[in-house]
Amino acid sequence: MALPVEEWRLCAAGRWAALEPALRERLAAASLHDSLRLGCGLLRPEAEAAALRRLCRRARAGKEPAAARFYREEGNRLFGRRHYGPAVRLYSQAASHELPGSPEVSVCFANRSAALFHLGRFEVCLEDIARAESHGYPDRLLPKVLLRKAECLLCLGRLQDAADALSVVENKIAMDGIMTSPTHQTLLKKLSQLKIKIHEKESCPEPAREACGDIQEKSEIWEENDSISGASSSLSLNFDTERGRHLVASQDILPGQSLLKEEAFVSVLCPGESLLLQDSSETAWDTRVTNADLYCHRCLRQLLASVPCRGCSYAKYCSQNCADMAWEQYHRTECSLGALLLTLGVFCHVALRTVLLAGFAEVSRLVEWSRHDDKDLHNPEARCKPPSEAPDTRGIPGCNDSGQYQSSYRAVFNLLPHAEKHSPEHKFLCMLSVVAICKQLQEAGLEAAVLNQESSEKWSKPKTREKTSGELSPELKIMAEAMLRHVLQLQCNAQAITVMQESGSGDGAVVNKKPVRLATAFFPVLSLLNHSCCPNISVSFSGTAATVRASQPIPSGQEIFHCYGKWQDAARHLERSIEIVEMHHGPSSVEMGHELFKLAQILFNGFAVSEALSTIERAEEILSVHCGPQSTQIQELQEMKTCLLALPRSILQRT
Ligand SMILES: [Zn+2]
Ligand SMILES: [Zn+2]
Repeated sequence: MALPVEEWRLCAAGRWAALEPALRERLAAASLHDSLRLGCGLLRPEAEAAALRRLCRRARAGKEPAAARFYREEGNRLFGRRHYGPAVRLYSQAASHELPGSPEVSVCFANRSAALFHLGRFEVCLEDIARAESHGYPDRLLPKVLLRKAECLLCLGRLQDAADALSVVENKIAMDGIMTSPTHQTLLKKLSQLKIKIHEKESCPEPAREACGDIQEKSEIWEENDSISGASSSLSLNFDTERGRHLVASQDILPGQSLLKEEAFVSVLCPGESLLLQDSSETAWDTRVTNADLYCHRCLRQLLASVPCRGCSYAKYCSQNCADMAWEQYHRTECSLGALLLTLGVFCHVALRTVLLAGFAEVSRLVEWSRHDDKDLHNPEARCKPPSEAPDTRGIPGCNDSGQYQSSYRAVFNLLPHAEKHSPEHKFLCMLSVVAICKQLQEAGLEAAVLNQESSEKWSKPKTREKTSGELSPELKIMAEAMLRHVLQLQCNAQAITVMQESGSGDGAVVNKKPVRLATAFFPVLSLLNHSCCPNISVSFSGTAATVRASQPIPSGQEIFHCYGKWQDAARHLERSIEIVEMHHGPSSVEMGHELFKLAQILFNGFAVSEALSTIERAEEILSVHCGPQSTQIQELQEMKTCLLALPRSILQRT
């Protein structure tokens, strides 16, 4: 999902192969600026652009009333069977397809509030009732919802509020006149029951719950670095021509010690597979749950009752606040591009969001600067600044004039794109994809919004520009150049935000925890860490924030290493092959022992503590029978175990 869908990759590869050899050579050797200048016209409207438009039809990102009906009916069906959790999800899906402010969306919220009430999620239930009311819930249905509100308040122990809510219902019923239908009789019965309950509670108040102690985390000793934002003072930023920028321990570090706390500069939620249906003629909507249904599009918090975007069906938020912030910062530009961004993959999406967050002024300043720097690159004296003994950070790329390295757009921009390491075909694919995004922005009339991120006044008065045969404006070309740079940077610098997700049979019996890639992000400070297969740190995530801790003692002067290896993929792959080995050789065969040993190593390096420990034990049991307790494999397993068990408690519990 990081890269564009296969069909588009093939389309771009075909275009590349058909280019004049001379043009291919020029493109392969061109700087980012020149490759865009040469390549802008290579996305032909009737050929590549048309193919891309067809592919985009498969990605469902818009609001579809028929889908809303389908999801609401499915939700009602599950509600009837008392499957309240899944019903909440389906009502959320339904709400995301309804138009904001319509009576239909208010019905989705009201239905969802009922399911939430049954789940005992009273606070969230109240929020949904408020949403239903504000979106114009039909008047005749209101008494039922207002009664639920009173019941919720009662369950939360807010007696006065419950009594107030109840009198609102009473007034409403009185105003509506005499009611004789069975529904109304039930309502009246419920009303009087509630009144009794409130009265009982008032006369016999429950003892106030004791405030839970021990929740407060022990505050850690944390001294922030003067020159690297978010980093501990026990690190220093070094630079040499061989290793580039890197972080080094400036004093002895203990295992478990926090080394870095960084908020992502930008992050994009990885969508679920089902958002890209294979068959465009498919009419049944998917009820499978994906990342996009489970996590807030902006802050990555887990969703219970999501707030849908006003314009599309794919962006869902944890709160109205997140929805408004995302809209203001980037989503008003991204919203109508949903299908295109899903088709072109997460890297392109991260690149677009990065430039939107940075704003045109900052982007153009750095792009201009990089063009001068490109010229300097051909001048060896300007390129090789001699590494000095004392770390003077002022000359280090990404640092500001006072030598500080901050988690800023400047730092993101200075991450290495390694343009020379990408194949010319790959660069061409990225360039064509970025051009496609910018052309769509221009065609959708979003250019003014893209260029004036900082002032919301100006984009009500869009610039009138002569449309010259789909040519990009000079400003959009600057944005495109920065985006191309970011897509290429992501190949080496993308940080996966992962969470442990529970996957179970649904009946709550057996639950497996698996690391799941939740989002792709830029962490400019975290990116300073070089890769090693034997990292000396571990990274954990909470929402969009990363925390780096030492996983072993790090003596002063040693470099800090991070493992960027895709260990989750490797572990999953190995788990599948272990199943096959088990079938062929039996569960206690020596072959099984070797496979489990490999898996234990991967899990150990990936810091999946509990999984690693159980795999180590299984491997140990089998290998000690076949190879004896003195074998090197057994010794290594024991070393890994000792290391894991020596970790601070807080880490063991979290993983
Ligand atoms: Zn949120
Ligand atoms: Zn949207």
